[in-house]
Amino acid sequence: MDYHALAERLLPGTYPPLESYETMYPPRDLPKGAEVTRLAPSPTGFIHLGNLFAAIANERVAHRSGGILYLRIEDTDLKRKVDGAVEAVKSALRYFDITFDEGAEIGGDETYGPWYQRRRADIYRAFVKHLIEEGRAYPCFCTEEELTALREEQTAKKEITGYYGKYAKCRNLTEEEIYKNLDAGKPFVIRLKSLGDPGNKIKFRDAIKGEITVTENDQDVVILKSDGIPTYHFAHAIDDHFMRTTLVIRGEEWLASLPIHLELFDALGFERPRYGHNCSLMKQDGETRRKLSKRKDPELSLEFYREEGYYARAVKVYILTLLNSNFEEWYLKNPDADLNEFPFKVEKMSKSGALFDLDKLNDISKNELSKLSAEEMCAFLSDWAQEYGTEAQKGYFSDREKMLRVLTLCMGIGGKKRRKDFTTASQAMEFIRFFFERPAEYEASRAEADRKPILEGFLKSYRREDDAQAWFSKVKEIAAENGYAAEMKDYKATPENYKGSVADVAEILRVATTGRANTPDLWSIQQILGEEETRARLRLALGQTL
Ligand code: GLU
Repeated sequence: MDYHALAERLLPGTYPPLESYETMYPPRDLPKGAEVTRLAPSPTGFIHLGNLFAAIANERVAHRSGGILYLRIEDTDLKRKVDGAVEAVKSALRYFDITFDEGAEIGGDETYGPWYQRRRADIYRAFVKHLIEEGRAYPCFCTEEELTALREEQTAKKEITGYYGKYAKCRNLTEEEIYKNLDAGKPFVIRLKSLGDPGNKIKFRDAIKGEITVTENDQDVVILKSDGIPTYHFAHAIDDHFMRTTLVIRGEEWLASLPIHLELFDALGFERPRYGHNCSLMKQDGETRRKLSKRKDPELSLEFYREEGYYARAVKVYILTLLNSNFEEWYLKNPDADLNEFPFKVEKMSKSGALFDLDKLNDISKNELSKLSAEEMCAFLSDWAQEYGTEAQKGYFSDREKMLRVLTLCMGIGGKKRRKDFTTASQAMEFIRFFFERPAEYEASRAEADRKPILEGFLKSYRREDDAQAWFSKVKEIAAENGYAAEMKDYKATPENYKGSVADVAEILRVATTGRANTPDLWSIQQILGEEETRARLRLALGQTL
C-alpha cells in the first residue's frame, strides 16, 4: 500500500517537518533535577478531591525542585465541556494556594502553549499524518452502530471489548476498499495500529507504586476523531512531550490506560515522562471501605470545602498527612511553619488506598482555626460570608469592633486556654449568630418552671456597669430568692433542700439572652450586646412586646 498517498488523501496539505516542533518547543532551560509537572483537567466543571491531591503533589514536586507546574486544559471532548470550567478550576486551586507557573489563562512564558488542546490541532495532525505514512495508523470507517454491535458480541462471548486483533476490521481493508469508502464520502477516524500482544507483560517503574507489571496494549485506539480532533490519549502524549513534562502524578484510575500511553510514546519515538499513579481515596462506610463517590459523598467535590468554609490550610495539612507518611511527625515539630518548607517526596507517597476521614479533617480544622488571631479569623469569615453567606451574615461585619470582641470571646483569646469550637466558617457563623440576631427559638432549660420570676428578678437588678463578680452575686441572690442553692457546694451537700442550683438559674438567663443552653461566658456576652439589647432580649423571652 502507498502509505504516503493515503496520508495525503486523509490529511491533505503540508505540515511542518516533525523536527521543527522539537526546535519550536525546545527542552526547557532548568537546573538539573528540576521537575516539570502539570495538571491536565478536562473542562467538565467538576473538580474533585482526587484532583486536589494530585495538584498538591505536582505543585510540591515542581516547586521544591525549582521546576515548573503548568495548567493544560484537555478539551478534546466537546460533549463534556462546561462554560466557566477553567475559571472554576483555577479558583478552586487558588483557594488551596496552588500556583501555576504557566498555562491556560495564567500568562507567563508562552513558549510551550497554547494550553488548550483544541488550539493545538495542527501539531497533532502532523504527527497523525506521519504515523499513517509509516503504516502505524489507518482509517476506520466503522459506524457507531457497528461498534455497538461489536461490543455486544464481545460481551456475549465474555471477551474483552474494544477494537483489537481479529475484531479490528478496518485494519485489514485493502487499498481499493479504503479509497472506495473515501470516494463514497464515508466519515472516518484514524486508529493506531497496535503492535502489542496482551500475552506480554511489561515491567514498569511507577514513581509512586514502585515496580508494577502491566499488560501490553493491543487495542487499536482512536487517535484522531472524525472531526479532526485527536483523542485525549494521543493529545496528551504529544503535549507531555512538547511541553517537556518530566513527571506526571495523576489518579490511579489512569493506570488502566497506561499501556495505551506507553505504546503511543513508543510509536511517536518520544522519551516518556515518569508517571506516578496516586492511590484512590477511600471512605470507611460501616464495616467496609469504598471509593469516594460523586453521587454519595458531597465531600468529594472541592466546591463542598469552599461552601462549608473549610480553612484552606487545614485541608492542606490533612491532605499532606495522607500524601506523605512523614508529614504528621514533621508538622508536630513545626506546627507554625510554612507548609512549603516540608520536604515533600514522591517516594513517600502511599502506595495503596488512602482513607479520607472527614472527622479527622474537622479536628485538624478546629486546631488550625484556634491558632488565628481575632483579626485573621474576622478576615477569613468575612471572605466566606461575602461569597456564601446570607444577607444577614454579611451584615455581621458592619460593626468590626463588635465582631472582634465576639471572636476574642468565642475563641478564648487572652483566656487561660484557647477554645476549639470552630470547625468551618459556616459553622462558626452559626455559632456566633446569637450576637447579631435575636433568638427565634429557645433551647430547653432545667428551671423552666421558675423562668418568669428569675427573668423578672434579673431585669430588676441588672446594671451593665457591674463587673463579672458583682453580676454573679446578683444571680446568686435571685437563685436564693427562688429556692435554688446560691453556692454549688451547698447544693452538692444537700440537693434535697433546693429546687436546683445557681447554675440552673444562670441557664435560664443564658437561654433567654442567646436562645442556647451552651455559650461562652454570659456576663461577657451581655457586655458585648449592651444594656439595651440585653434587656430587650430578656423581655422578649418573657413574652413582652417591646
Ligand atoms: N484529562 C485527564 C483528566 O481529566 C488527565 C489525565 C492525565 O493526567 O493524564 O483527568
